[in-house]
Formats: sequence, structure tokens, C-alpha cells
Amino acid sequence: MEPIDSPKSPPPAASRGLTRRAALRMAGAAVLTSPAAALPGPFSGTIRVVASTSRQPEWRDDPFTLGVASGAPRPDGFVLWTRLATDPVQTASTGGDDREIGYEIAEEPAFRRIVQRGIARAESAFAHSVHLEVRGLQPRRPYWYRFSLGPWRSAAGRAVTAPIARSAVSALRFGHCSCANYEQGYFAAYRHLAEEEPDLVLFLGDYIYESLDRSPAAVRHHSDGRPATDLALYRNRYAQYRRDPDLQRLHAATGCLVTWDDHEVQNDYAGAWSEDLIPPAEFLKRRAAAYQAFYEHMPLPAASRPNGGAMRIYNSIDWGDLLRIYVLDGRQYRSREACYGPGKGGGHVETPRSCPELMDPARSLLGQEQERWLHDALAASPARWNVLAQGVLMARMQGARPDGGRGAWTEAWDGYPEARRRLLTHLQESRIANPVVIGGDNHAFWANDLKPDFDDEKAPAVATELIGSSITSHGPDYDATMKIVRQNPHVRFFESRRRGYAIADLTPERMETRLQIVTDATDPASPKETLARIMIETGKAGAIVT
Ligand code: FE
Ligand code: CA
Repeated sequence: MEPIDSPKSPPPAASRGLTRRAALRMAGAAVLTSPAAALPGPFSGTIRVVASTSRQPEWRDDPFTLGVASGAPRPDGFVLWTRLATDPVQTASTGGDDREIGYEIAEEPAFRRIVQRGIARAESAFAHSVHLEVRGLQPRRPYWYRFSLGPWRSAAGRAVTAPIARSAVSALRFGHCSCANYEQGYFAAYRHLAEEEPDLVLFLGDYIYESLDRSPAAVRHHSDGRPATDLALYRNRYAQYRRDPDLQRLHAATGCLVTWDDHEVQNDYAGAWSEDLIPPAEFLKRRAAAYQAFYEHMPLPAASRPNGGAMRIYNSIDWGDLLRIYVLDGRQYRSREACYGPGKGGGHVETPRSCPELMDPARSLLGQEQERWLHDALAASPARWNVLAQGVLMARMQGARPDGGRGAWTEAWDGYPEARRRLLTHLQESRIANPVVIGGDNHAFWANDLKPDFDDEKAPAVATELIGSSITSHGPDYDATMKIVRQNPHVRFFESRRRGYAIADLTPERMETRLQIVTDATDPASPKETLARIMIETGKAGAIVT
């Protein structure tokens, strides 16, 4: 075991500035844990933070009710997350001061060989969440971590460090998923995804739903009984989702990368423009609250801290020479939806005739700055594979309309056709190696060929798109969607009637993705099955369904 502040492992930023007394107190707390303390603590329905004369009030109930998570893997570390909350779903914030809690990182799951131990800060201003940036670890190996506070100890999590930049990597398993409406199903798909033992999971949006499902099909309910619109309600939503044992299990099993889609804030919003046409200045206050709650509940680095209502979550990470992943933000910087107005605040169908604005090249889904950043990062990529992780369907998905034009759903990339053409042209002209776009939002499985000009059926694909259905959220009508799919020959696979996720095995030669389904998303014990296998061969864009 190394002492705190060992020269071999520099202290994480969060532990700097602490008094030696505080450090010793926390080291003591970590040592005092016993087998009994490792058992789950009792859960009480009321919050009892005891006012204490000491600087660190006692927590009488288990504060680790929301589990643990890790993210933002690097060759020398990752971000570790937890949040102190004894009664998270009923209490917006515990108030009071920041808390110092202990953490340990071990080389094996029994915590016998501990490589780092120290103090992390749970910030009161962020609902007592912890975002600990760990450094000084070895590349490309698993670690186990846990937190402690007084007699309480968190569940243990497992996280894998990334390989050294540009080093030769022969294999990576990663999962991707989206759209986990708590009211529309149980999270068996998350449990199955954890059991695949991926090195990394990508959450591609609609991690929570701010809305309510009042239909008889709802299998359980958002506890506040109203849509989330302010910080307290958004916090409660995340806390309710994070209480789910299958989601906790997934976060504890592996590190993740996260982006958001619309339901983390409001259905179909774009930038400062809301579905219900409320004035942008007012909507931005709601968005700022939603973004803050997202930060509070995700293993994001300090670089993503909310800043004046904005939050930078787009980023790229490298997995040796095998893969560069671009985590994109398709909501914060979006241009307003085409022909936005009364009755057209969110997604709606337009054609270039009904809405010439659709074709305006000034419109962007990623925003100019992110677009530029992405183009540069792609052009500089040393990786064999380049995965763009983002929220919405990129392939053209248009059907004939009565006015003779092709109908575009304004909410997805179809609503930003010039921005899509710019990106796909860049992939082609800059000869980006093996670009694969993964997305969510749509609640269906998709495997699509992507090209700058979808009207040219003979043009070769320049990239491949995969969407792994939804964890629980209801899919679009199959027969109605199939009528449009048949008019879009670049679609290689489509299935909207099943819920699940995608799990990819990547090697230098190929990406083999299994589209996994749960047989019944309304059954918490549902088994899983493989629906299809999608192969992408190196140097040859386009999906092969096997
Ligand atoms: Fe969704
Ligand atoms: Ca969505």
C-alpha cells in the first residue's frame, strides 16, 4: 500500500489543499472499514443529516445509495464518480458544506493490493457529487475502486485505463445504448450489457426522460409525478434512475463515455429553442438546470463543469492505435429547427419546397465551432477506426410527400442536410480511416450506409451507421417506418419492435457488432438474445448483415 501523497502517485487535484489532519482522518476512516461495513447500509425514507459542531457532520444513513461510476478513461487514469445522498429521490440537495470522503483504488477486486488511497471532495454546490480525476495508474489494465465515509463504504466499481497513445492494440469490446425511459420498462438490458464485460460503454442520449408517460402501458412511474423543469426535479430524476440496481451494476462493471440527446432537458429542443416556444432566455435557465444535474450525475472531468449555463461535453479519446472516439454534442449548439413556429416547435416533416430554410448551409447540428473541431480531430487521427458517438439518426430517411418533394424529419440529421453533407464529404475527401457513426434517439435498430449524396444509389458508402435500439423506450410503428425504409436503399437493417443495445468487438481488421435484444422490456428478469450481427470490414465502409 502506498501512503497518501506518495511521490510515485501524485495526489489527484481534488486532494490538494487539504490539511494533513483531514488527510489522516480520512486515511483512518478507510482503514477502519470492516467486513460488516462492506454490507449494504440500511436505507431510511427520511434524510437525517445531523448538524454537528465539527466541520464534517456525520451521515447516519448510507450516503452511497446511488452507486459509483467511472468515465473519461486515459492511459494514466480516469474519472471516478459518486454522489452522497441518503434519500436522493425526495431531496434535491442535502445542503451544508462540502464533504471529504475516502477513496481506494486496487489492482484486484478484493482490495488487497491498493495502489492509491486518498481523499475526494463531494461538492455541496453540485448535490454532493464527486468527480475525482485519478492519475498515475498503469495503461490498459483494470482497476477496482470504492469510496468511504465514516462507517459507510460504497459498492466497488471496475474501470479500465486506456492504452498508451498510438500503441498497438489488437482488440476492444465496447457497448452502446440509448433511450432508457424508466416508465416504459425495466433495465434488464443494462444488466445484460454489464455481463458482456465491455471495456467501455457509450451512453448516447435520453439517459433520463424529463417527461411523464401517463399511458396504461407504463410499468413504473417517475416519482415526482410531473415533468422535470428545475434543478431539484432534474436531480430527482437522475437519482431515481441511478437507484435502479441494473443501471448501478452496469456503471460499476465498466467505465463509460456519455453524451446527451434531448430528453435530458426537454423533448426535441435545439440550442436555445424549446418545443413549447418559450422565450429562449427563459428556456436557457431550464436548460442550465438540466445540464447541471447531468454533470452532477455523470463521471465527467472538471473540463465539463457547467459554466454560465453552458457545458462542454464534446471530446475525443484514443484507444491506442486502434480507435479514436469522438463524443459529440448534438443539442447545445444546434441551429433552430427548420421552419420553427407554432405547432412546429419540435420534430415535424418538411420538404425543400414546404420549407426552403431546410437547405440553408448556415444551419448546423453541431454548431460551427464543434464542427471545425471535429473536422480537425478527424483529419489528425492516427487511429485505424474512427467512431462518432452522437445522438440522432444520420442516414437520410425520407419518403415521398404529396408536394412531390421528399419529406425530412426536422429533428434528426435529415433536418440539417447541408451540415450532414459537409461532414460526410469531409470523411470522404480526407480519407478518414473506417468512420463509424453510432447514435440513439430513434428507439430502433439500424445499420445504414452513409454517403454524401444519398440520391446516388450506386455511390459507395463513405461511412457506416449503427443504432442499438432503446433500453426501454417504445419504438416507432414498424409498418409505417418500413414504408419509408423501402424508399431508402442505403438502409441495410431495421427493426423497431425490439429493445436492447449494441455490443461491438473491434480488431484492426473488422468491427463485429451484435445487436442484442431483451425478450420483454417490461420484465425485469427478461433474458437476452442476439437479433443480428453487423460486420464492417476495414477499408470498406458499409454494413454487412450476417
Ligand atoms: Fe429516446
Ligand atoms: Ca431523443
